[in-house]
Amino acid sequence: MCLKPATSNKGDYRMADEGEIANILADRTVAESIAQNAKLLSKQANKPECEDCGLEIPQQRREIAPWAETCTECQSIREQRGKHRRVAY
Ligand SMILES: [Zn+2]
Repeated sequence: MCLKPATSNKGDYRMADEGEIANILADRTVAESIAQNAKLLSKQANKPECEDCGLEIPQQRREIAPWAETCTECQSIREQRGKHRRVAY
């Protein structure tokens, strides 16, 4: 009955809005899952810092190995020391 040319424009705006809302929702979901992961990780490993060098253990390593007490470098040094311990001491 009352076809206004503006209606199609509104429709376009709505689609854009819905897309934005979807993006926001997706961001929230990601943020929430990251927060949950962080909680889990902090429970499993209270120390984000490397025990040997004191540098922060990379997030990626903590995700792969939440039990890790050292960074990748120090871990490999520890492993090498462990291998040579019987010989060295
Ligand atoms: Zn280290």
